[in-house]
This record gives sequence, structure tokens and C-alpha cells, in this order.
Amino acid sequence: MIDVRDLRFRYGDGGFELVVPRLVIAAGRKVALIGPSGSGKTTLVHLVAGIRKPLGGRIVADGFDVVAAGERQRRQFRAARLGLVFQEFELLEYLTVRENILLPHYLSGAAWRLPAVRREADALAASVGLGDKVGRHPTTLSQGERQRVAIARALVTSPRLILADEPTGNLDPDATAAVLRLLLDEVERRGATLVMVTHNHGLLGAFDQVIAMEDVVRGGSA
Ligand code: ADP
Ligand code: MG
Repeated sequence: MIDVRDLRFRYGDGGFELVVPRLVIAAGRKVALIGPSGSGKTTLVHLVAGIRKPLGGRIVADGFDVVAAGERQRRQFRAARLGLVFQEFELLEYLTVRENILLPHYLSGAAWRLPAVRREADALAASVGLGDKVGRHPTTLSQGERQRVAIARALVTSPRLILADEPTGNLDPDATAAVLRLLLDEVERRGATLVMVTHNHGLLGAFDQVIAMEDVVRGGSA
């Protein structure tokens, strides 16, 4: 599902360097990615998502050659085939909950116009407990509710691969448990693969596999 080889990345000259000789994550796995702050977890997620380009190496995600692809193909891959959940949610304040959930469809084509797709967005909103709030704007929601919108958005295209970067980082323990349960249940139900970055070691028991950055990287400052 994810196959990384000889990956090399650096932020500018003399900046943080990330070297990953080999990382393989099998399809259908629910994986927690852990490691100290600054060890390159977010950088690695962004590389797999094709948001950043490595100096060298190979990344194949869901059969897509992320490094070889052009910018346009990578954007299309992200919008159509990847579920991305960011720590800071990245919701658009001027869009409603329903429109935020539909965003990957806006970015990848015209499917958002289809009644079935709009029904799916509303069904997802309901499944994350926001069925009565699809017309609201993110500023009127709690942190936990905003994070649930971000999760619904990551699932709306039924991606085979979901990358979640500390999706519970800003939540209190109750909301953390609820968001994690929701994410794991949806991933399980869809047979998708989940890679979730987390600092919360209390959550690790819920995953099939825990990968520590220090076991993955070589050299660099990590
Ligand atoms: P983590 O997610 O594990 O906390 P990051 O991947 O965010 O780590 O960051 C790894 C290192 O790269 C840190 O030292 C950080 O300061 C540096 N870094 C992150 N983003 C940038 C950037 N845009 N430009 C330069 N350095 C960065
Ligand atoms: Mg990070």
C-alpha cells in the first residue's frame, strides 16, 4: 500500500534532513506513527501525499508513483484517492460543513454536483454526529466538531489510504476517544489503510502496528 525506498529530503541548504531507507505498510493496516516532536513525522506524511518533493528515492502509495508523477497528477491523486486529516483541520471558514466535506470532489472534478455524492456527504456528516449541522460554518463549531468535519472530508471520496497527522492533538480526552473510534470504525468498515501520527501513547493499543520514526530514519538530525 505504501512502499518507500531510499527516500531523501531536506528543507533548504543545511535544513532538517530526512532519510528513509525502506518503509513498507501493508494494505488494510491501521498504523500509528510515533516519534518525538521535530523527528519528521509531518514531513514524511507530506512526502507520501506528494505535497513536498524529495531529493531522491521512490514513494508508491496505493499503486501511485508519487515521486515520478507531475504536479497536476499529484493534486489529482490527493483529491481523489487520498484521505488527508491535518492537525489544524484546514477547514475553509467561508464554506459550510457540507461544502467542506465535499471539498475533495470540488478539487477533483464535477462529481460534487451529483445528488448521490451530496447525499453521501450528508450521510457522512450524520455518521460523525453532525447531521443537523451541515449548513453551519466551521467558526460556529467546537474543536471536536471541526475535527469530525475534517474526518468526514477525508472519507468522502472513499479513499483506500488515509493519512491523519495528529488528528486528536487539539482535543480533550473524551473528544479524542470519540474521534479515534470514528476514524478506526470507518477505516475498518471500508477496508482502507490508515496511517495516523500521534503523540498519545494511550491510543496505541487500538492500532494493528506501531511504527517509530527512530526505527525508520537513518542519519539526518532525526
Ligand atoms: P514532527 O511532525 O515530527 O514534529 P516535522 O516534520 O514537522 O516534525 O519537522 C521536522 C523538522 O523539520 C523540524 O526540525 C522542523 O523545524 C523542520 N521543518 C518543518 N517544516 C519546515 C519548513 N517548512 N521549513 C524548514 N524546516 C522545517
Ligand atoms: Mg508534526
